[in-house]
Amino acid sequence: MLEQLRRVTQAVSLADGQQQTLDVIVAEVCHALEVETCSIFLADYQLSQFVLMASKGLNPDSIGQVKLGFNEGLIGLIGQREEPIHLQQASEHPSFCVIPEINEEKFNAFLGVPVIHRRKVLGVLIIQQTQPRQFELDEETFLITLAAQLSAVLSNNEINQLFDNQTSESFTRNIRGIPASDGVAIGSARVIFPLASIHSIPDRKTDDIKGELKKLGSAVKATHRQLEKMSRRMEGRVSEQELFLFDAYQQILSSQGLGHEVEEVIKQGFWAATALRKVVQKHLNAFKSMEDPYLRERANDIEDLANRVLAQLISANQSQLSLEPNTIIVAESVTAAMIAELPMKNVVAIVSLKGSSTSHAAILTKALGVPAIMGLETCPITRMDNKQLIVDGYNGQIFISPNHTLQNQYQVLLDEERQLAFELSRDECLPNETKDGQKIKLMINSSLGTDSQRVHQAGADGVGLYRTEIPFMQLQQFPSEAQQTKIYRELLSQFSDMPVTIRTLDVGGDKQLEYFPIVEDNPFLGWRGVRVTLDHPDIFLVQLRAIFKASVGFGELKLALPMVSTLEELDECFRLIHQAFDEVEEELAVINQTIVKPKVGIILEVPATVFQLKSFTKRVDFISVGTNDLIQYMMAVDRNNLQVKNLYSHFQPAVLSVLRKISQDCEKARIPLQICGEMAADPLAVLLLVGMGYSELSMNIGSLAKVKRAISRFELSEMQQLVAEIEAFETEAKIKDHLFKTMEKRGLGGLVRAGN
Ligand code: PEP
Ligand code: MG
Repeated sequence: MLEQLRRVTQAVSLADGQQQTLDVIVAEVCHALEVETCSIFLADYQLSQFVLMASKGLNPDSIGQVKLGFNEGLIGLIGQREEPIHLQQASEHPSFCVIPEINEEKFNAFLGVPVIHRRKVLGVLIIQQTQPRQFELDEETFLITLAAQLSAVLSNNEINQLFDNQTSESFTRNIRGIPASDGVAIGSARVIFPLASIHSIPDRKTDDIKGELKKLGSAVKATHRQLEKMSRRMEGRVSEQELFLFDAYQQILSSQGLGHEVEEVIKQGFWAATALRKVVQKHLNAFKSMEDPYLRERANDIEDLANRVLAQLISANQSQLSLEPNTIIVAESVTAAMIAELPMKNVVAIVSLKGSSTSHAAILTKALGVPAIMGLETCPITRMDNKQLIVDGYNGQIFISPNHTLQNQYQVLLDEERQLAFELSRDECLPNETKDGQKIKLMINSSLGTDSQRVHQAGADGVGLYRTEIPFMQLQQFPSEAQQTKIYRELLSQFSDMPVTIRTLDVGGDKQLEYFPIVEDNPFLGWRGVRVTLDHPDIFLVQLRAIFKASVGFGELKLALPMVSTLEELDECFRLIHQAFDEVEEELAVINQTIVKPKVGIILEVPATVFQLKSFTKRVDFISVGTNDLIQYMMAVDRNNLQVKNLYSHFQPAVLSVLRKISQDCEKARIPLQICGEMAADPLAVLLLVGMGYSELSMNIGSLAKVKRAISRFELSEMQQLVAEIEAFETEAKIKDHLFKTMEKRGLGGLVRAGN
């Protein structure tokens, strides 16, 4: 059965477009199960009906014509129940209804399964047979397994249709992802792709066919030369047979081979890189579906070769990157470094197929105030270039080629946002306090590109979190003590009039250093934060020494330790901190310089530490709650995984209850408490945090003005009251709804928009 399943899915992967996909499925299922008929009905949610979209065995004229309401017939029943129905004599079932166009009365045996993707019924797959019979158990499991596998394919096809139906005025469909940075934008998509990844090259047309042919010619020539060099280098080191591989590569590239086919596609008006992708994908699909494992492997050779030609083609284009006003950047994986290199002046939004709301790229977009959506894994990136888009960063959705009505609605929102930004800018000189004058420290999480002038202007009280791994990520190797001292000194001098919290290196999880790869099956539960630095005192001590040296002559410095799980780890951190401090103090004494012992705290992000807080608070000077990770570990949900994103919320009752406990325990221990996760940037959440007793909130600079306004419109007692009120609610949705309504009643609805 497994082999048959593999055949069907491979045949499907070769199909071009939705109709062909469906036709291939029904034909392959009939063949694999030796049944007379197989049909697929797809759900049309706008008209609440299932439509017969493909069939082998039923009247071909009925395809696209036969429609059954969501409550009609056996198909409707499968959709409603969301489970298979297996009947020996279908016509005897009370839900059976006769459809004259398809002549199915002669079929007796019936087995139907729903095709479900992310809780949504996309369609129904059925097989039928004339003879009354019981289908075998493994036929049923085959169909269920196939339906599960096909759901993702059909869902992708559903999204692809968005691109084909763009002209309809009633068309308002969208693709959903993870909201990463608030705001809305209307603009034109520009796909940015990494060098040497053939699969993310967008469909791009050209008028300059001659120019593109020339570019292809030069790229192919350069690749030929590269291969020759490689072959010469390998001579004598590998066998003749293995050297032959390079000849094979040369042949594939030759003008009679791949090169010729690519030229033909360019002549149809495509950009050289697009033409290369189209030709290569066709060949890759063919190779990958081959039975022979040796030939299947050859697909890798073709892909490698294509990436080499592509690298030659693209290197010329990337340097010329210029963006039109109102550009929406779309990329497979937007990184913080990519954003830093973009001419952001004309960028109105960012869309990344991979990533999460707490990735560094997301944090950077927030700091820049650019709306962003991450994790739209089902978005067909190759078809996005130049498409008109609306990006709704509040709800995490994009609308492709939106109709005028929708554009107008979003234009109103955009205008309101501009007005709000203008009004908020007038609050900048106001103190950071509640309506009744209670001081709340609003700090910023500093990241790449944080503009210190803007931070001062916004009235921030300090830097609550400086993530040291960001400069580490931009380098090609671990920075030396001197390099790090310079980086930290620059930071401290920019914010010399404020307290600054520097977090020690936090790599692992989703934060990787190219030059120190950590490969694990379960990286978020693995070697990260102080687990890495304690295992590498060499790295840790150099960083600590650099931080201490940088602090000479500056004010209040705090040190925060990420991912501490146990007291033993904390004690070991302290041992190394003392060692580094004593060493630096001694070295500086020689040149008559002194340093002050920094306050040391932990970033509380491992749930276990919450239940040992009494012991932790005896040892540290402050606690800073890292909600980004704390929520991930409490809810057992990967913060980057779109599939489970609904569970990742700071309004989950259990999360709020733990935050309350942390606040109470820190209060008892009389230890300063701060919050530095993204939760502190959400004006709705901030009402609860302040009500619980959190009086230091550290957030991205882009959110500071909104948070300041939210707290300034409520008295402390009102926020405490709100905390008491939400105790009555047992679900995340009810809590969010209550807070949203409370904000609206105060006329602050504009600060937050209803989430998805
Ligand atoms: C956190 O986990 O809340 C945090 C601030 O750290 P990071 O997002 O860098 O993991
Ligand atoms: Mg963290």
